[in-house]
Amino acid sequence: MEGTMKQTSKLGRRLLLFPAPFHGHLNPMLQLATLLYSKGFSITIIQTPYNPINLTDFPHFTFCSFHNSLLESYSKSPPPDTVTVISSMDTCCEAFRDCLSQILRETAAADTDTDGCKEHIAALIADPMWKFVGSLTASINLPRLVLRTGSISALLVYLSLPSLREKGYLPARDNNLDEILPELSPLKVRDLPLEWPHHLLETFVRETETSHGVICNTFEELESYATAQVKRSLPIPIFPIGPLHKQSPTSDTSIWAQDQTSITWLNKQTPKSVLYVSFGSVATMSKAEFLELAWGLLESMVPILWVVRHGLIQGSEVNNSLPEGYLDMLGERGHFVKWAPQLEVLSHPAVGGFWTHNGWNSTLESICEGVPMLCQPIFADQDMNARHVSDGWKIGMKLEKGIKREEIARSIRKLMLEEGEEMRSRITALKEKATLCVKEGGSSYTSIERLTSYLLSF
Ligand code: UDP
Repeated sequence: MEGTMKQTSKLGRRLLLFPAPFHGHLNPMLQLATLLYSKGFSITIIQTPYNPINLTDFPHFTFCSFHNSLLESYSKSPPPDTVTVISSMDTCCEAFRDCLSQILRETAAADTDTDGCKEHIAALIADPMWKFVGSLTASINLPRLVLRTGSISALLVYLSLPSLREKGYLPARDNNLDEILPELSPLKVRDLPLEWPHHLLETFVRETETSHGVICNTFEELESYATAQVKRSLPIPIFPIGPLHKQSPTSDTSIWAQDQTSITWLNKQTPKSVLYVSFGSVATMSKAEFLELAWGLLESMVPILWVVRHGLIQGSEVNNSLPEGYLDMLGERGHFVKWAPQLEVLSHPAVGGFWTHNGWNSTLESICEGVPMLCQPIFADQDMNARHVSDGWKIGMKLEKGIKREEIARSIRKLMLEEGEEMRSRITALKEKATLCVKEGGSSYTSIERLTSYLLSF
């Protein structure tokens, strides 16, 4: 375990943050940390050896990094599937407890100093994926909030699972997959996280409903119905303060190196001509699926910037997955990178569409830059996000599973050349709302003020 107390806050309050070790969870937690630091709190981040944050990138935070041999072994390639990693997070309980005790001891010792810098720990903000944190913090009376890094609509679905079972929607059957869920419209039964182990969802719900408050990376204007329903269901404060990358003084919190050739290549393209393709940090696909995508992209004749990260193609890398002569056929019309500066890419004038897996961060980022989406959800909450994008907000088109190259090419052309304009005008309206909500008097701006006062009350 490493870590020392250094920075003290203007407010005399320290916040402990415990992110789940996945890119899509670390990013918003780091943005939240940066935002709360700018409000005067000092920050300690507790982290595992899986996807470790480079401490020198965040010199104003204190880190407490603990060891866990299982997660350490998973950091080495090939990465295991996400459910395996999530399940093994339970083995961090003791190391986390030791880390917490160390921080509490150090803070108590610092309190006895005579330099006038008395500080106390106001609260812990944890990812609700951590199953053991609620009972541990309750046993020492440490206030705990959770950061919800996914949509609030997905949280509403998780809260509704018992009633969906009671009403007979679950378990799903072959003949009800296309039924729209009346109180969760436009979601259909098939969009529910059917393959996701239920004990994990129950963990998220339990850790959320037993917390002192839920911080959500969303904005009320985007998810007004779900926000109102969740507020009604949970007797704790709810703080929709997103989009966090717009609220945080530094939105660039990527823990992986971003390939800047993405931008130099985009600079050579015409406005709104490029389809940006990325499936996030954890989703994987078979070599056969990857090939179908590659052919579809080629046949669409649209310029593409494609992120093929290490581990995306199961058991293979991009170089030995593409058919012979593919890169020559694509020529200057395509550019591959292992990891892109996604926020910069989406805001680049040459980008006209985003082929995405609809992870919540990617979905929000696309909305914030007004880029219509081609949705190819792969697992977890992505089907629900994609349904909202395509059937709810109507700012994207959903590709059904098992789609073939001709249809891929047709859908890409439809998005980029035919129906894109209507979607673009709807997403531009949402982009304006996202911009306004973080300005003074806006819904998320007000929510962050409420959150700050709430944290100061501990
Ligand atoms: N991202 C990035 N470069 C890439 C691809 C993704 O910086 O080449 C970032 C993206 O901006 C987003 C995060 O990685 O903030 C992915 O989170 P998301 O919730 O979309 O998907 P996940 O990785 O959790 O499946």
